[in-house]
Amino acid sequence: MHVLILGGTTEARRLAELLTDEAGLRVTSSLAGRVAAPRLPPGEVRVGGFGGAEGMAAWLREHRVDALIDATHPFAGTISFNAASAAALAHVPLLALRRPGWVAGEGDDWHPVDSLEQAARVLPALGERVFLTTGRMGLAAFTGDPELDGLWFLVRSVDAPEPPFPARMEVLLDRGPFSLEGERELLRRHRVDVVVTKDSGGAATSPKLVAAREAGVPVVVVRRPAVPASAAVASPQEAVAWVRLQGPR
Ligand code: NAP
Repeated sequence: MHVLILGGTTEARRLAELLTDEAGLRVTSSLAGRVAAPRLPPGEVRVGGFGGAEGMAAWLREHRVDALIDATHPFAGTISFNAASAAALAHVPLLALRRPGWVAGEGDDWHPVDSLEQAARVLPALGERVFLTTGRMGLAAFTGDPELDGLWFLVRSVDAPEPPFPARMEVLLDRGPFSLEGERELLRRHRVDVVVTKDSGGAATSPKLVAAREAGVPVVVVRRPAVPASAAVASPQEAVAWVRLQGPR
């Protein structure tokens, strides 16, 4: 069997490990190519866009893919819709591997918003020293407004951001997983008084939420975009079980 994993996440890498090591299947992981030096999964890897849903469907046919797993990040909306269309066009079974979103607990001061632009609008009322953990894309949302220009931003991303970015900014190049101890220290050292995050879910980047709760720091949480209604599981292990039910086509 040949399984194509649409990746770019910790779970996608874990799934590639499980399918190659334990199940002994042929696995190709697909990466968008956004990160300069990505952590590579075992098995075959292809990098770059397919050219929309039809391009992906052609790739599925050409490479005789038996099962498609969309294990992309919850905020990568376009590729998930493309996967649903491509799977239908090429008659390939599709499963989405989607980690559950985070849930606010006692003591959390969360401010849910629908976009980075909305996050930028609520920020000036919440704090002055912002820990921005939404990645290097979309920083333009935090520019071009005198109120935002008065804030200081600590931007954490895997690769360096490109302009436009906030007027007063320090960049911290790093990638998860992050420890609770490290996040506590970071908030303290930079005197962070508000955090901005996407509702990415998962354990690798959740310690910042605990550190913010402990420090009484508000968190602006960007809600997830819509995803196509397809069969979905929450863990790589469940995805392996699903693959075992699919035969070669
Ligand atoms: P997106 O907006 O959904 O996708 C834009 C285009 O990028 C797609 O139409 C596709 O191009 C290409 N693409 C995306 N993921 C791909 C993949 N795994 N393999 C091949 N092509 C891919 O995606 P995005 O938000 O830019 O995210 C890009 C990648 O980064 C994803 O793989 C995602 O898992 C990972 N990631 C995203 C975030 C985030 O916050 N968005 C965070 C962490 C990791 P074509 O139409 O040409 O096929």
